This record gives sequence, C-alpha cells and structure tokens, in this order.
Amino acid sequence: MNKKELEIWDKKANWHPFTQMKDWEKDPIIIIERGKNNTLIDTSGRRYIDGVSSLWCNVHGHRVPQIDKAVRKQLGRIAHSTFLGLSHVPAIELSRKLVVIAPRGLTRVFYSDSGSASVEVALKMSFQYWQLKGKRRKRTFLKIQNAYHGDTLGSVSVGGIELFHKIFGPLLFKTIGAGNAEEAELIFKKRANEICAVITEPLMQGAAGMLKQPKGDLARLRKLTKRYGAHLIVDEVATGFGRTGKMFACEHEKVTPDFLCVAKGLTGGYLPLSATLATEEIYRAFLGEYKEFKAFFHGHTYSANPLACAAAIANLEIFEKEKTLQKLRPKIKLLSQELEKIKSLAHVRDIRQVGFMVGIELAPYPLAEKRGIRVGLAARKKGVMIRPLGNVIVLMPPLSITKAELLKLCRVIRQCIAVAIS
Ligand SMILES: *Cc1c(COP(=O)(O)O)cnc(C)c1O
Repeated sequence: MNKKELEIWDKKANWHPFTQMKDWEKDPIIIIERGKNNTLIDTSGRRYIDGVSSLWCNVHGHRVPQIDKAVRKQLGRIAHSTFLGLSHVPAIELSRKLVVIAPRGLTRVFYSDSGSASVEVALKMSFQYWQLKGKRRKRTFLKIQNAYHGDTLGSVSVGGIELFHKIFGPLLFKTIGAGNAEEAELIFKKRANEICAVITEPLMQGAAGMLKQPKGDLARLRKLTKRYGAHLIVDEVATGFGRTGKMFACEHEKVTPDFLCVAKGLTGGYLPLSATLATEEIYRAFLGEYKEFKAFFHGHTYSANPLACAAAIANLEIFEKEKTLQKLRPKIKLLSQELEKIKSLAHVRDIRQVGFMVGIELAPYPLAEKRGIRVGLAARKKGVMIRPLGNVIVLMPPLSITKAELLKLCRVIRQCIAVAIS
C-alpha cells in the first residue's frame, strides 16, 4: 500500500486505544515506518526523537543490533511453544537473570504478556494465598489514590483515575483507597483483618500525570504491610528497567515487596512480555498434592513467549555490558538542568522528575481546550514525538538518548509550550 492508501485503510479498519476516533478520522495522521536508535521515521521520511520511548517501553533505542540478533537467533529455533506444562530455553535463562537483578528475596517468576496481566496475576496470587492460608476474610485490596495499574477489570479495580475508570465502576470489585502511607496506616488500624494486600506505583505515579510520591512512602508501606500481615504489591511496569536511575525504583528505598510487577521495559520495548515476581514464601503456599487443587489456575497462551524472552535477555545483557545505568547519571543531571529553563515559563505550573520520568504540568486549563495535545502537535513539526497526559507534558526518553538529542528534546518542548499556549 502506498502512503495514501495506508491512511485511508487505517481510518477505515483500525480502532486506536485511548483515542477519540472522530478526531482521528478527520485529522492527518502519522504512520511510522521505521526506527533507528532514538528516532522514529514516518512514511514520508520525516524523523522524530522518540520523546516517550514509544509509550514508556523502549530502553536502548530502536533496531538495537544485539536485540535484533537475539530475536533472529531465537526465530531460527522456535517462535513459540507453550509454557503450560512445558518449558523452554530462553524463559529459564531470563528467569535466572531476573531473580539476580530483582530486589533480594524475589525468587519466583510468573510470566504473562502485558503490564495489566502482571497486575492481575499479583492480585489473584495474593487473594489465593490468604484463602489457602485459611485467612478467608483477607480479601480486600488497599490502593493509593490516582493509581494506574492497567486497563483490564481487575487492574482497573485497583486504579483510581476518574477519567478512565468511572464509567466501569459497576463492574469493579470493592477496594479501599488511601491518599498516602500515613492514611494507609489509619485504615490498617481499623481494618487489618480484611486487607490482603497494598498495591502501589513506587516513587512516581505515571498515568495519573507523573505524580511524585512522598519520599519514604514506599518503605513506610513495606513496614505497615509487614506489621499488619498483608502483602505489598509493587507495580514497576513503568518505573522498572532503569527509568528512575536505578534498575528498579524499589532500590531507592531498599524495599523488597512480596510481588513485583514488570512489563514495559522488560524486552527493551521490543515484544509484549511481563512478569510477576514473588517470594519463595508465597510460592510455597501453593504447593500441595494434585488432588488438593492448590495450583495457581491462571495463564495466557503466549505466557513467556520465547521470542520475547530472547529480546529480554539481550536487553538485560546490554545493561551489564554497556553500563547503561552508570551512563545515565550525567544525562539525568542534564535533563534536570534543562527542565529548570522550562520551569520559568509563564504557563508551567509544576515540573516533576524522577530520573528519566518527567511530567511538566501546564496551568489548569480545561481539558477540553486540548492544550497538552496542542503542545504535542507543535513538537511533531519540530521533529519531536511525545504524548501528553491531559495538561501534563510527559518526557520519558529512551535511556540511550544522546546528550545532543536530549538538549533538542527539551529545547523543542520549551519552544512549543511557549508558542502553543499563548
Ligand atoms: C502501563 C502500565 C500498566 C499497564 O501495562 P500494559 O502493558 O499497558 O497493560 C500497569 N501499571 C503501570 C504503572 C503502567 O504504567
């Protein structure tokens, strides 16, 4: 299909996620054809810096020779074989690596295929754990306000973004919400015997608009859950794999959760794969005679897809070989300096940064004015691709972004905020 036909057929046959298709059908669209390093290239040959890592998942850039090679090598062996009652080579090798880099004590890896699914798995495992332990009243999840844990109904139940979640209210299970760890403690004091787990996004709530969490709250939640006998589920789908400057955000507060959910960056942004890591203690609660039916009855056709596992192994090897996290430090500093220049703009209300996760909040314009979207459209014209969250401009570049690209990204965003808002 040529460029024109592609656009016609996209508008005819596709239904895009989180997209008002009425606007989509009438406006010109961008169709990506290729990528190279930190750049996206569209069907007209225009180039854009990938300012949000292809929605928060790309890590070392596009068409990374080592990852390409690993996937090709695995293709030469087998593309997919089930993980239900069978095993395969790349998943075993990946799990060994994950257990080594994860916070100490997380020894078991359960694979699925999206961040949402990794959260569902943690919720169901925690629930079943307490049932198996005979604590049948422990069946309520405590969530943090404004959380986002995915779009499947279980993950929406523990989410709290009005705009996305309100309409589905009648379909969701009941949860208890807390604003922060302090509030969580008050709730625990009254209702500890019904709470099975606390679920949280560590350090930074992403989809809510890059909301920084109070320093120390993650460690406080860990203490609380230990004291009151509940699990701590940490959702590192967005924060994992270097995005906060450390491999996992948990490391900043020296926390080992009972469950760790990872997805987005796991394969370097190549293929859909997610994992729920659990402790040996939790794993053991599910052991028993076959006829006791204590097994975890959950799985997906493509759980632990071998191509995706091969990409993930290569992704982690690059972290080691190229000292990605070490090289990231000066870039995080540079990013902070550039953000200072944006802070002084008249229409910027707040800037929040944790490592390579940034939210630039504009003044509280009505969402219907689409100010954030306008900044994004202006940036495209200057060769930068971003996707705002309402009035919050999100920057989350690949860890591999160069200093020159980082400077351009920040310069363009600064100019576009100044222009698109006035
Ligand atoms: C993106 C995200 C999810 C959902 O992951 P999907 O792969 O899109 O299902 C869950 N939790 C957090 C914190 C996320 O940022």
